[in-house]
Amino acid sequence: MKKLIMVLLTISMSVVSLRAQKSKKEVLKILDQKSETYGDISQQIFDLAEMGYQEHKSAALLQETLKDAGFSIKKGVAGIPTAFVAEYGSGNPVIGILGEYDALPGLSQQAVPEKKSAGAAAGHACGHHLFGTASTAAAITTKEWMVANNIKGTIRFYGTPAEEGGSGKVYMVRAGLFNDVDVALHWHPSSVNSASAGAALANKSAKFRFHGISAHAAAAPEKGRSALDGVEAMNMMVNMMREHIPSDVRIHYVITNGGKAPNVVPDFAEVYYYARHGNRDVVIDIFDRIVKAAEGAALGTGTTVDYEMIGGTHELLPNLTLQKLMHDNLTEVGGFDYTEEEKEFADKIAKTLGKEKADLSLAKNVLPYKTEAKAFASTDVGDVSFAVPTVGMGSATWVPGTPAHSWQAVAAGGTSIGKKGMMVAAKTMTLTAIDLFKDHKLIEKAKQEFEERRGPNFKYIPLLGDREPALDYRK
Ligand SMILES: [Zn+2]
Repeated sequence: MKKLIMVLLTISMSVVSLRAQKSKKEVLKILDQKSETYGDISQQIFDLAEMGYQEHKSAALLQETLKDAGFSIKKGVAGIPTAFVAEYGSGNPVIGILGEYDALPGLSQQAVPEKKSAGAAAGHACGHHLFGTASTAAAITTKEWMVANNIKGTIRFYGTPAEEGGSGKVYMVRAGLFNDVDVALHWHPSSVNSASAGAALANKSAKFRFHGISAHAAAAPEKGRSALDGVEAMNMMVNMMREHIPSDVRIHYVITNGGKAPNVVPDFAEVYYYARHGNRDVVIDIFDRIVKAAEGAALGTGTTVDYEMIGGTHELLPNLTLQKLMHDNLTEVGGFDYTEEEKEFADKIAKTLGKEKADLSLAKNVLPYKTEAKAFASTDVGDVSFAVPTVGMGSATWVPGTPAHSWQAVAAGGTSIGKKGMMVAAKTMTLTAIDLFKDHKLIEKAKQEFEERRGPNFKYIPLLGDREPALDYRK
């Protein structure tokens, strides 16, 4: 009987909450009520800290959450076991929300304001545990609003693994999973609240493998051909090339295998290259020249060379129609205040970053809207942005001043600071999705801008070619 009353109570409560979703304020209230639930989910993914393409438990947790909320789930899409699509509704418009959940190797850290490993192989130094969870919260809340208001269309969550160097979304775009999407929304953990236009560098990365002939380095060097010579000759030519390329191209490499012992002529050596620029066509051209340098190096050193594409992403295509909408919603949601305990934590973190105090106004306020940004890094969201009109934002999940990929980012991401910042993103994306479902003209305007920016003759070229997903790149 008690159980029955509970069930009836839950049903009647959910009917009330469904009815009470006419205004944006009511929707925000519902997200506030669920902040603990979503905080717990993010904490579980934080503790799992699974690396790219190994995020089996993290993906399963998000799938379960979405399934319980009435979404249908397609697992293992694009040939990737940890990629999935969750969907509710039917027909147009189709609004997609991206969610990431991979951690970074070597950055295990406890949620404390001093460098202290949690003893795991990886840590959430890019806050993707918050990323995946807030996006799930936004998808579910949008769905509930659709049900409550009898809204037609499809809300879709894209579970996108291995953002960190695995180019997960590129395979998903290549497989055509975004073909029927009208608008894609995403966000990223940050140390400020901002929904200004973003930018990212296109990139191509590959491992060049040289093969030579091993021999005793003193007794019979004339019989050997050094694979390491091949790597060094290639690096020298690429370094000379730097003078004759656009000055904003970035090329970086590491020698991942240079032989085992100086007294053995190495018959194998490997060098891992990245080329980046704000325009994918420049990256394609530069990468072709790097390949030529590798071939020339092999010819000159009597070795052979082959290469494996590892990653490749497009730059970000901005969409100011959507960006302004998201900025307005972020402004409506606003930032958050730190508790005394959080302030203490923040000041301790600030000291490790060479500052006396953390500027907490950056968590409280939203940065002014800007229509232009400079790119410093790459993201596989770039490929999504060339497939459909795409818009993103950042919220202050980290103590202001914290760089991404740092132990300080992991630490704050595991506390209430990260969870509060995450809810700012969940709310902003929900409001933006609602606006798009309510006003199809906005979608049309965004699509028009998208077509203009992409250009009439644009053809999508996956920069990593036709390779299969690099599922073992973290092994
Ligand atoms: Zn990231």
